[in-house]
Amino acid sequence: MFKLENIVRANILSLQPYSSARDETVGNSGILLDANENPYGKLNRYPDPHQKELKRKLAGLKGVKSENVFVGNGSDEVIDLAFRIFCNPNEDKALTFSPTYGMYAVSAAINHVEMIEPPLTKEFQIDLKLTVDYLADSRLKLIFICSPNNPTGNLINRNDIEYLLNNFNGIVIIDEAYVDFSSSASWIKSLEQYPNLIVSQTFSKARGLAGARVGMAYAKENIIQLFNKVKPPYNVSELNQKAAVKALSDTVRFNRNLQTIKQEKAKLEKEIGRLKQLVRIYPSDANFLLVEVTDAGRIYDELIKQNIMIRNRSNILKNCLRISVGTPDENEQLLTALKALDLQSFR
Ligand SMILES: *Cc1c(COP(=O)(O)O)cnc(C)c1O
Repeated sequence: MFKLENIVRANILSLQPYSSARDETVGNSGILLDANENPYGKLNRYPDPHQKELKRKLAGLKGVKSENVFVGNGSDEVIDLAFRIFCNPNEDKALTFSPTYGMYAVSAAINHVEMIEPPLTKEFQIDLKLTVDYLADSRLKLIFICSPNNPTGNLINRNDIEYLLNNFNGIVIIDEAYVDFSSSASWIKSLEQYPNLIVSQTFSKARGLAGARVGMAYAKENIIQLFNKVKPPYNVSELNQKAAVKALSDTVRFNRNLQTIKQEKAKLEKEIGRLKQLVRIYPSDANFLLVEVTDAGRIYDELIKQNIMIRNRSNILKNCLRISVGTPDENEQLLTALKALDLQSFR
């Protein structure tokens, strides 16, 4: 049986959170002599520590309550807070499936938590046989599942995720940074069903706000309360909250850009598919392509010389490059460069 109290660190359960000057009052109205702010300026007031407007909008959009939403300084803050809430340093463990987003392991290391990393299968799916034995370990507190996965681009099978949600008495975090590009419904729809589920999303990718640093966690209210307790009081600046609220209201631009990115991805797939240096393109539900080539290092170096930056993932996936979908013009320049290299190598 999953019981939240059983897996939260004792010091966090008993923590008396910081109460900021304006927690008890109605926000930034009236004569504000309570927070030692400067009375002059445009950004002179502390931002809303509860990000009420942004949460209301997100809750409406996702069909949950504001109490089910946590807003962080990027999803990187969500990841770090999860370790700090659930994992005792030098005692507890976390698990994720390799290869995946690097921040889970880095955040584990920062928090002095052992990270178990069973490999994904050849199809980049969860290998339950390699995983089940870990689930009974009472020191295992967190499982991170990235879906669509970075850097492989694919969705993780729903059945396997359901198995973990049902058979693991710790927290399962599904990182949906790329879900808006995918054909799949969000796991937010299943929050009601699973008391141990956290879904993280971000403004950094489909919403085009990587510069603003806004990420979310969606979960049952008792989990969200723990995140609120542990976060720095003013973790999301007023500038960032406003930028996020504005991005949410810009539905037309959001949908148009999403469409363009999807079309451009299809074009890149088709054109890269014709290169002689190509070994394979993995199917992608995200805004990037994982591409296996005959000599990743060479292509990477040659593109850098032309000021075109892609990600060389050869250290974790042999001869694989990860290519983000850019603007039509940027993609065209990439394709021109790749075709020129193709001619050189097969002359
Ligand atoms: C890009 C990305 C994020 C975004 O992190 P932020 O801190 O919100 O910018 C989260 N998870 C994955 C898997 C990503 O690739």
